[in-house]
Amino acid sequence: MISTTRPTFAIERTKKSRIKDIDFNDLEFGKYISDHMLVADFVNNKWQVPKIVPFGDIPMSPAMLSLHYGQSVFEGMKAFRNKDNDICIFRPQKHSERLNKSLVRMCMPEIPEELFMQSVHAIVETERDWIPTSEGASLYIRPIVFAFEPRLRVKLSDHFKFIILTSPAGAYFSSPTRLKVEKTFVRAAEGGTGFAKCAGNYGGAFYPNQIARQEGFDQVLWTDAKEHKYIDEVGVMNIMFVIDGKLITPKLTSAILDGITRDSILKLAPALGMTVEEKRISIDEIEEGFKKGTLTEAFGTGTAAVVSPVASINIDGVEYKLSEPGPQSFQQRVKQKLNNIRLGFEPDVYGWNYIINV
Ligand SMILES: *Cc1c(COP(=O)(O)O)cnc(C)c1O
Repeated sequence: MISTTRPTFAIERTKKSRIKDIDFNDLEFGKYISDHMLVADFVNNKWQVPKIVPFGDIPMSPAMLSLHYGQSVFEGMKAFRNKDNDICIFRPQKHSERLNKSLVRMCMPEIPEELFMQSVHAIVETERDWIPTSEGASLYIRPIVFAFEPRLRVKLSDHFKFIILTSPAGAYFSSPTRLKVEKTFVRAAEGGTGFAKCAGNYGGAFYPNQIARQEGFDQVLWTDAKEHKYIDEVGVMNIMFVIDGKLITPKLTSAILDGITRDSILKLAPALGMTVEEKRISIDEIEEGFKKGTLTEAFGTGTAAVVSPVASINIDGVEYKLSEPGPQSFQQRVKQKLNNIRLGFEPDVYGWNYIINV
């Protein structure tokens, strides 16, 4: 869709842009934050009108509730310069929807879609010079919402902050990763917060991941919390397999994050001649696929890398290897198709692109 209304939030411009200090040919993911940020407060039971201000520290109380009790959620999406040099934000409405699901689960106030869309539009338009133009590069957009009230008692905050930061990101090529099937630790259990993009899910995942690294792996392949028999996700990405020429991915549960890259790939697969199946996938099925040679691809999906190829999966100490995906692999072809749609080289039949003409 092409945006029609321009947001009219107040903008306090920085006195000194930092853009000249940044080498756009050497962008470490998440390292450089652009000149401005959008800030809105939830007070008096209402989201107030956002402001755009210079990026910088915010004063906070050490008693701020989110630090103590973890009410903190976020999103991650991307903006591009498309082939016509317009700005394209990829599926912001879907991110708005997911943010609200996370907020509801964490008992935090929802952000009306209109307010979210206007906010994302406003900050991206303000920071348009920060959108890298080299191939595969983008402006990463990071909305966060967190409890701000200072109080030691366990209570629902009555003050929340909504902030959007943006960060220029270079083309992200993920080298093939070595996975370990995790059967001791759990990322999320059904009924928990796995489907919410909340900070605590990440906090609890560092330690198991650290142990996997010490054992020589890159990431853990999370299994279900009850039986450790079925696959949930990989690290902080969704996981997909090609088995018998079919695209297979775990069916969503309350323990799995509903990835927007996952959803996009599932929708694009049929156009690439691929049948899709969402179902419970057991470790046994994966092992059998390796043994019979029917499992030909495994990859993680997420906004940062789009697809991240899997080099090997370690199941109970046995290492199963995959060859590096070539240009004819499904994962490479679908990544290309997704990029073509965002950049305007292929029609956007699903209406995923939010276009700002500037
Ligand atoms: C954000 C996230 C993903 C990927 O979601 P996208 O919308 O595709 O970026 C997958 N798993 C977890 C745990 C995540 O936090």
